[in-house]
Amino acid sequence: MKITIIGGGPAGLYFALLMKQRDASHHITVFERNAPDDTFGWGVVFSDKTLSYLKENDEETYQRITESFELWDNVDVVHRDQKVTIRGNRFSGIARLELLNILQQRCRALGVELLFRTEVSDIEALASRSDLLVGADGINSTVRQKYEQFFEPSLSIRTNKYIWYGTNQLFHGLTLTFREAEAGVFAAHSYKFNKTTSTFIVECDEETWRKAGFDRMSDDETRSYLEQVFLNDLHGHPLLSNNSKWINFVNVKNAHWSHRNIVLLGDALHTAHFSIGSGTKLALEDAIALRDSFDETGDMAAALANFERVRKPVIEEYQEAAYESLIWFENVRDYMQLSPLPFAYKLMTRSKRIDYENLKRRDPQFIAAYEAAGS
Ligand SMILES: Cc1cc2nc3c(=O)[nH]c(=O)nc-3n(C[C@H](O)[C@H](O)[C@H](O)COP(=O)(O)OP(=O)(O)OC[C@H]3O[C@@H](n4cnc5c(N)ncnc54)[C@H](O)[C@@H]3O)c2cc1C
Repeated sequence: MKITIIGGGPAGLYFALLMKQRDASHHITVFERNAPDDTFGWGVVFSDKTLSYLKENDEETYQRITESFELWDNVDVVHRDQKVTIRGNRFSGIARLELLNILQQRCRALGVELLFRTEVSDIEALASRSDLLVGADGINSTVRQKYEQFFEPSLSIRTNKYIWYGTNQLFHGLTLTFREAEAGVFAAHSYKFNKTTSTFIVECDEETWRKAGFDRMSDDETRSYLEQVFLNDLHGHPLLSNNSKWINFVNVKNAHWSHRNIVLLGDALHTAHFSIGSGTKLALEDAIALRDSFDETGDMAAALANFERVRKPVIEEYQEAAYESLIWFENVRDYMQLSPLPFAYKLMTRSKRIDYENLKRRDPQFIAAYEAAGS
């Protein structure tokens, strides 16, 4: 089969290597507009479950990822300058660039053709020369836009602003920090992803953002402002920019997932708010599900229909949980009057995927402290 993939992010690369590993006679090409070492952002997180899928599907990639990742089992919630720790949440973090390099090397070793610095513009020509064309071209997917009357996408732009920084302050565990400044409430999502660096995403509502004057600030001024807001958390470490910009999260859905021999994958197909840390996980699991559909059916139309039938309910469930989570962060002002333990409890149960019983199993000490506090 001749497979053309637009986008060398986690979805495109992982799908390429899984298909090539299954059948070496496939001719697979990945087009990526950037160079192999260009990337946005810092680290990404995986749950244990995602790692076990990776192990089952390509041991080699799994081994390389586990050599480079940072593992933790706690979520730390910092509110009113007090830290509440909730254990039993096993996650690992890895640099996005490191992950992409591992996937690129594995693709090359298997014989996938990787074309970097190659922007695709004529999608229709590529589609007609391929048995399968995969639009793994991220959140602003041109493949999705080109065939929008068939995919029928819906894009909802959320109200909060966020910006993705790094820092050399090491946060051991997923640390969610809430600080009240004169302009309003700021939340930081942080975790270390290698021996020297943590991801540090800052989020606030539009009103806070305007009051703080970020619309008129340079990159340096923005970082200085936020370093002051999170002074007690960063311990003097600066925020590191990687062309970091304030953005609004966009919730992407598609009514139809394929058209003719063209299918969407990863962020092009769906997004899930970063507060449940699932974008890369979903992109990799999409790749597994699409490969499985080809294994099970062997026929193009049936494989693409099967992919949508099997995978869509899973994605919808995630998007529901992610939606509850983003709404919580959009309304965080309403919870700031809670003292640290009930605040942490509300935060942990926000997406309705984790409840009292579940938390009690994960961390009985946390629940005991929560109850002792009269919550
Ligand atoms: C602030 C923030 C924090 C996040 N945190 C996490 C996290 O903790 N954990 C997690 O799992 N995920 C996280 N994510 C999400 C994660 O980054 C994405 O969900 C994931 O990268 C999706 O993978 P993808 O392969 O679908 O798309 P992408 O990684 O976006 O890759 C798409 C690729 O396509 C290329 N491309 C696009 N158009 C063309 C074209 N016309 N021609 C050639 N190439 C093209 C792009 O250059 C890009 O490399 C976060 C995202 C944000 C914004």
